[in-house]
Amino acid sequence: MSNFFETDIKFLKGVGDARAKVLASELGVATFRDLLYYFPFRHIDRSRFYAISELSGTDMPAIQIKGQFINFHTDGEGARKRLIGVFSDGKKMMETVWFSKITTFSTAYKPGVDYVIFGKPTLFRNAYSIAHPEVEIYDASKPPTGFRGVYSITETMRKRGYTTRLLQNLVFNLLSHPGYEGITDTLPPEVVARYNLMPLKSAIRQMHFPENAQMLQKAMERMKFEELFYVEAHILRYSMERGSKLPGFLFAKIGDKFNGFYFNVLPFQLTGAQKRVLKEIRADMKTGRQMNRLLQGDVGSGKTMVAFMSMLMAVDNGCQAALMAPTEILAQQHFASLTEWARPIGVKVALLTGSTRAAARREIHAGLLSGEIDIIVGTHALIEDSVQFHLLGLVVIDEQHRFGVAQRGKLWHKSEKVPHVLVMTATPIPRTLAMTVYGDLEVSVIDELPPGRKPITTLLRYDSNRMEVDRLIFRELRAGRQIYIVYPLIEENEKLDLKSLEEGYQRTCDTFPGYRVCFVHGKMKPAEKDHQMDIFVRGEARIMVATTVIEVGVNVPNASVMVIENAERFGLSQLHQLRGRVGRGADQSYCILMGKIKSGADTKKRLAIMTETTDGFLISEADMKIRGPGDMEGTQQSGLAFNLKVADLARDGQILTRAREAALAVLRGNPSLLAPGCVATPAMQGDMTPLPVDHFWVSVMASELSMRFARTVDWSQIS
Ligand code: ADP
Ligand code: MG
Repeated sequence: MSNFFETDIKFLKGVGDARAKVLASELGVATFRDLLYYFPFRHIDRSRFYAISELSGTDMPAIQIKGQFINFHTDGEGARKRLIGVFSDGKKMMETVWFSKITTFSTAYKPGVDYVIFGKPTLFRNAYSIAHPEVEIYDASKPPTGFRGVYSITETMRKRGYTTRLLQNLVFNLLSHPGYEGITDTLPPEVVARYNLMPLKSAIRQMHFPENAQMLQKAMERMKFEELFYVEAHILRYSMERGSKLPGFLFAKIGDKFNGFYFNVLPFQLTGAQKRVLKEIRADMKTGRQMNRLLQGDVGSGKTMVAFMSMLMAVDNGCQAALMAPTEILAQQHFASLTEWARPIGVKVALLTGSTRAAARREIHAGLLSGEIDIIVGTHALIEDSVQFHLLGLVVIDEQHRFGVAQRGKLWHKSEKVPHVLVMTATPIPRTLAMTVYGDLEVSVIDELPPGRKPITTLLRYDSNRMEVDRLIFRELRAGRQIYIVYPLIEENEKLDLKSLEEGYQRTCDTFPGYRVCFVHGKMKPAEKDHQMDIFVRGEARIMVATTVIEVGVNVPNASVMVIENAERFGLSQLHQLRGRVGRGADQSYCILMGKIKSGADTKKRLAIMTETTDGFLISEADMKIRGPGDMEGTQQSGLAFNLKVADLARDGQILTRAREAALAVLRGNPSLLAPGCVATPAMQGDMTPLPVDHFWVSVMASELSMRFARTVDWSQIS
């Protein structure tokens, strides 16, 4: 009965042409299926009347209470004026509150009349109140409407008189449509049976009109499973096709350059993790298939060396390699390290950035085309059309999150044959997320820091501890160390933030006279910013006052203190990244989180996690749990092929695991089951068509998501 699903929404009882247009343009609901899958964003319990004494906890659903208004009075002045109605259920009293239309509401409800008030109770000063409740006269003949969904509707719709109730009615009409009984399940029957899932027909019904909490839960589980099943099927299928279709360079041997470097030049012992990752990369590059690998390693874990040695594998096999960095300074740092390592073994490294002069640029272009240059390090300048390679075999992208999709695609097309790709990031991706999104991309992890590093001491301090913090900074300055002081910069509050940053700069200069302080923020001209960064990197400035523009990956081993102001305004992952700027030398380093003494318990708990662990994975998982799924929204705009509607990667890890297992089984058994048109859910609509063979697709979507995850607010302001 697929034509039931495809039926134009205008044919639904209660819709018609005009409403159909609004539903399509405002909600993207154009067919019966769209509406069936337009699930409520929250549910309300109108299955019974609650007693005021039953209210508990801080996260009550919206509920209804039957009773009478005892009196009305106003409180507060001017903009804070509000109307308070005291409501009694016969046993206990509570307040209802209105912040607007005060005169209207103060006379709207009569004493002695039984009303039903409805809304979400909030706890304030130990008492519950309901703000702007829905109020109706109690009607004993009206049966309880049960558990229902609340639908999100747009402002435009609201203005045109659309309500959640109208949508409820429309959904109700649709569920009563004789065609609905005939719908077929979107999951293979074996899967439904094996995983004990609620059949689609009941699940959709329960999502909109739950009988009770248990049924709703079961329905949710089913819809989440379905969504994740198709996402996984999609990724797995892509990966199977790609695996069989995409040939890559075959780097058969480990040659002289690699060995010469390894035995004679390598300035330290590789860590066990570095060795393991190099083996993984080596194994990939000798399969004859194109490598698409993500290398995750905490800040300071030594990813650059892994990149360099992988590049030597390419060079030993007659290919060139490119290392692309997001900023000029980072490219320069990489160039300096790589040149030092490469010179003794006769490997030629060049640097190409936006500021490379024309003459030098021409020379580099020629060297790349002739193959004289083995390794090129650079910024966006590498993807200009004039840059052509003799034979590019490996591309390493460092701290990928700041390249746009199109830019990466461009670098890609520089090579006739698809080069191997290694994307390096210090952003730890939670395991559940990695599994879904990196379904195709292989992931390597460096989970060990080079020896001899002292763990960073993380302290949570408040304004009242300023003196103590200043003393610590003084002590480190006198010992010759360098200091970072970081301020948040959140766009909505830009002016205010800039002011606090400037004040912080002034205060720092006043407090530590005799030490040069540099100043960096995202609104600066790039040249000025580079200059400020540069004097810090060279040690001329001893303190840097900055917003989070502090370059990802910048290596100043002499820096030993990271002070983060208004730490409560940063995400945990971001704090972790910032903390990673220190602790790169052999000295004890400190990360000082300046918190607000008045912050809530949750905020304090969050910051305390930072003082308890330096494990980036634990931190990112905690972060994701705390922030919840909201931050995962918007994945669609970023070019992700899917956008989860019901599932929540932070919480639904177990469902994900089962869904993936099921998808794999189905694909192995009978991939045609998942052919386009055979099944469809809104999550996957249009997505089941074969993907364009864009080799960067998976790494792009992975990195875009990790970018969202890292949520480093003002990076976008830099370039
Ligand atoms: P990241 O992973 O953050 O990019 P880097 O590659 O910049 O880290 O490495 C950080 C520092 O550690 C560099 O100075 C690098 O030379 C050094 N390093 C890397 N690997 C080792 C090792 N195995 N032993 C000692 N020092 C190392
Ligand atoms: Mg790095």
